[in-house]
Amino acid sequence: MASPEPGKPHVLLLPYPAQGHVTPFLKLAKALHARSFHVTFVNTEYNHARLVRTRGPAAVAGAGGLRFETIPDGLPPPPPGAADATQDIWALCEATRRTGPGHVRELVERLGRAGGGVPPVSCVVADGAMGFAVHVAREMGIPGYLFFTPSACGLLAYLNFDQLVKRGYVPFKDESCFTNGYLDTRLDWVAGMIAGVRLRDFPTFIRTTDADDVMVTINIKQSELDAPAADGILLNTFDDLERAALDAILARLPNTFTVGPLGPEVSPASYLPSLTSSLWKEDDRCAAWLDGHADGAVLYVNFGSITVMTREQIGEFARGLAAAGSPFLWVVRPDMVRDAGDGAPLLPEGFEEEVVAGGRGLMVGWCDQEAVLRHRATGGFLSHCGWNSTLESLVAGVPLLCWPFFSEQVTNCRYACEEWGVGVEMAREAGRREVEAAVKELMGGGERAAAMRRRASEWKEKAAAAVAPGGSSQRNLESFVAEIARVKR
Ligand code: UDP
Repeated sequence: MASPEPGKPHVLLLPYPAQGHVTPFLKLAKALHARSFHVTFVNTEYNHARLVRTRGPAAVAGAGGLRFETIPDGLPPPPPGAADATQDIWALCEATRRTGPGHVRELVERLGRAGGGVPPVSCVVADGAMGFAVHVAREMGIPGYLFFTPSACGLLAYLNFDQLVKRGYVPFKDESCFTNGYLDTRLDWVAGMIAGVRLRDFPTFIRTTDADDVMVTINIKQSELDAPAADGILLNTFDDLERAALDAILARLPNTFTVGPLGPEVSPASYLPSLTSSLWKEDDRCAAWLDGHADGAVLYVNFGSITVMTREQIGEFARGLAAAGSPFLWVVRPDMVRDAGDGAPLLPEGFEEEVVAGGRGLMVGWCDQEAVLRHRATGGFLSHCGWNSTLESLVAGVPLLCWPFFSEQVTNCRYACEEWGVGVEMAREAGRREVEAAVKELMGGGERAAAMRRRASEWKEKAAAAVAPGGSSQRNLESFVAEIARVKR
């Protein structure tokens, strides 16, 4: 393990406080630490407390000079005894933006006075969704970079929000636009996006009739004010995967580094193993259960850390999975069903006894997803297409059934199905029959599924090559490291 060296930069990492952001940021933290940088990783107090509860104090105690600090998230504290749950993304975006600048400034000043072998902060790498930090860094005379954790195609879509407003597509005229075919409007003027891109392929935040919509406003600020003010941009993707989108991003933000897929090659799992980022506790029965199944036989079902479902949708998925016949590993987070508290059983009658207890399905509240995807028994992933999940699936060579929930997940879904050839889209309102048919298509031995499997294996190889020595992402990471190492403060 590397130790921070005197004279090396001190990088402050500021992820947006949600699972899909904290995880790639911790991978970046380890990659920088492995290169002997001083690293301070900033969690919100809320997430810090969750990490301590789920993983124990070691997860945030720091190790080998990789330190953890906290700032408040600006939201009112949860009521005493409240269960751990994903915070309201809208409220969190607004609150971090409003209260974050003061907290970040104070933290950087405090670290500057810390002494004890800790050099002053010489570079800030903030989440694209915490873009305010770039201006704080600038005011303090420190370089500020932004790490956007979505895909390049997702970021490119966000970079076009301003145009969507200027050209009159957003806000929507009225609520009929959600259902009257307006979402199928083609936008052939968007440079770098997939041919035939439609409004429905843009992050779902544009689906608003409010001219002052918080998420549209914040995303436009991030694209028009924050990103151009940054010294550089980091993306967790690789050139071969998103060439056209990247070219369009580079035309606007020339100092962009593609460093993905961040993961084992840049910071092996064995590196500082006490430092892990899951906000939920993993169920450790998954590996043994998967061991009992044939290669590629299991469908893995997981909709990430934010998706919420109705009881009715859970019931339809359960019936569809039962009817499709493939073994499945299904993750239902404890906070996933918002109306779960009324005591009635969540799953259809007989499902637990016949399907789960019969051994054909394993249901857990959270798992080590990357380990599940890497397991030889996992043959398909029914996913919400969050960027981490999509990329982790490509890295593992596993094809996708796509059921996007919100944000740029719809963009990732379109690319997975049409550009990368690894996905089948499932309608938002899919009922049991559609679920059954889609699962049979992916897990059955048909030609379409075989073609997706071949494409997924090709992407697996390309992803590995990108982060192998001499690969595009590996070289970019080294260029970024060299660039921030030149900074003296
Ligand atoms: N994840 C996990 N176990 C689970 C569910 C999710 O480890 O049971 C991880 C997953 O590997 C990914 C992240 O949580 O790294 C979810 O990020 P993603 O961008 O896919 O979706 P989000 O949660 O932001 O919607």
